[in-house]
Amino acid sequence: MLPVYISHPDCLKHSMGDQHPECPERIGAVNDMLLIKGLLDFMQPMDAPLATEKQLAQAHASLYIHELAAQSPKEGSVQVDPDTSMNQYSYQAALRAAGAAVMATDMVLTKGAGTAFCNVRPPGHHAEYSAAGGFCFFNNVAVGIRHALNVHGLERVALVDFDVHHGNGSEDILHDDERVLMCSIFEDKLYPFCGNVPRGPNMVNVALPARSGSDALRQAVLEKWIPALDQFRPQLIFISAGFDGHRDDDMGNLGLVEADYAWITKQIVAVAQRHCQGRIVSCLEGGYVMSSLARSAAAHVKVLLGMDD
Ligand SMILES: [Zn+2]
Repeated sequence: MLPVYISHPDCLKHSMGDQHPECPERIGAVNDMLLIKGLLDFMQPMDAPLATEKQLAQAHASLYIHELAAQSPKEGSVQVDPDTSMNQYSYQAALRAAGAAVMATDMVLTKGAGTAFCNVRPPGHHAEYSAAGGFCFFNNVAVGIRHALNVHGLERVALVDFDVHHGNGSEDILHDDERVLMCSIFEDKLYPFCGNVPRGPNMVNVALPARSGSDALRQAVLEKWIPALDQFRPQLIFISAGFDGHRDDDMGNLGLVEADYAWITKQIVAVAQRHCQGRIVSCLEGGYVMSSLARSAAAHVKVLLGMDD
């Protein structure tokens, strides 16, 4: 089976206002660039299903799931944290985004898809066990990871997160779960202002100072991530693929470029080929300037497809 490309029109209906950086246009920007580059010719497109309550409850408190559903407005919008709000379509979109990670996991583990890329929003890595935040409602990758562990019976699943912001939600849910290794790289002293002290022995957190640039990123991956991943021997790798560390994106100041996203993806693909037949599930997280988001995501997907040179 071809690598899968999972998205859903519902992801475009969730809006947090015209001026909000986490905007519906992000999905189209990524989709259009993958199309223009010819990458979608080599992928099986699929519509994301709605995550079930049982699937969500593998990573979130049942009370939180119910409270979020109850907050979903019939019209207008409801603020759930200073940066995050829901319109009447947001809850449905959040279910699609988490459902995409579950479907991607199924496709890679049982249908031989090899790799999967989920072009979905809302993003997920700031969503904690019982709290929304930072534009996130459900932690898409954590829901997928727990599905791989609890439903498919995997024993070791890795998560790598290269979004410019620390994936505090993923760490909140997955710390001390010895079946998971989470490796993250993020900009120090940036939202959510944590991550410097890992919350468990299964967390490899690398905080890079602002303006670190490509060389520091690559050195950190080679010295901190790769040895930990090789020792862990993952049976499946999830990627929290955030592209807001790009130098054109003013959400952060790491100063990265498309070539860095291609390079880091290449390292992850190599780990996956060494330990788990190349099996990778990648989910979109941040990236807020349409042009750099689209170019970076395309560079990432191209390597996932094994088409880099
Ligand atoms: Zn981010």
